Amino acid sequence: MGLKNNVLDSFALTGKVALITGCNTGLGQAIAVGLAEAGCDIIGVNRSEPEQTAQQVSALGRKFVSIRAELGSVAVIPGIISQAVAACGKIDILVNNAGIIRRTDALDFTEQDWDDVMNVNIKTLFFMSQAVAREFIRQGEGGKIINIASLLSYQGGIRVPSYTASKSGVLGVTRLLANEWAAKGINVNAIAPGYMATNNTDQLRSDEQRHQEILGRIPAGRWGEPDDMKGPAVFLASRASDYINGYTIAVDGGWLAR
Ligand code: NAP
Repeated sequence: MGLKNNVLDSFALTGKVALITGCNTGLGQAIAVGLAEAGCDIIGVNRSEPEQTAQQVSALGRKFVSIRAELGSVAVIPGIISQAVAACGKIDILVNNAGIIRRTDALDFTEQDWDDVMNVNIKTLFFMSQAVAREFIRQGEGGKIINIASLLSYQGGIRVPSYTASKSGVLGVTRLLANEWAAKGINVNAIAPGYMATNNTDQLRSDEQRHQEILGRIPAGRWGEPDDMKGPAVFLASRASDYINGYTIAVDGGWLAR
């Protein structure tokens, strides 16, 4: 019984390289730090300089590479891949985390609010996955893709039509890509966060009535924290999840169980 047989070793990410979109704050930041704690080097793709994340990853003794890009357009993707490979030599894990939300009644919702959200949340997610999967295949060792979905991958929501469309799309596209790529050693899965305390939910949390309504429906009795993402992200990024394909795991304090 060598260490090789210890189940905890299958969670280790030593020597791996993860590319994470939108890791300057919120859930993406916690995922970056969590993966680094598991031994992974991090390539962060952000539109602003992710100074705090870079500092936290470096303090763990892991490499942090910053790539600046505006993910509202897919034109930036080839440049991201070439910079990532030039800096780290390879990519093992992709986390499609960057996402936005626009809240307006469906009757007043604009085409701009539709397109902006769909571009970042689903179009870029698909083409980033395509570009990184081509790299995985070129490298010949498979890889891991983790998409960040939402409760609105399962539910309709209210006043967020493009967000619901995009996140419902994330769940479907995660399944489709898993079907096509599982045999190539590429695991594609997603995490659906529940109500988490980040910028994304500022507006909801500042409305005391909505805040209390939501809190009252969460079986765990609290909003989620970014750190709640760490364990599930490390699991889906690691060998421990090698036989999980096309599944979306809710990290929601039980919200969907009700
Ligand atoms: P957040 O704090 O608003 O973080 C979103 C991240 O995406 C930020 O790093 C943001 O960068 C980046 N981003 C947005 N648009 C971008 C663009 N055009 N180009 C490059 N980067 C862009 O919210 P969060 O809660 O951590 O969200 C992370 C993911 O979780 C999103 O996909 C979100 O939909 C999902 N999610 C969140 C919750 C929740 O309750 N918080 C629930 C379900 C799903 P900037 O800082 O530069 O804007």
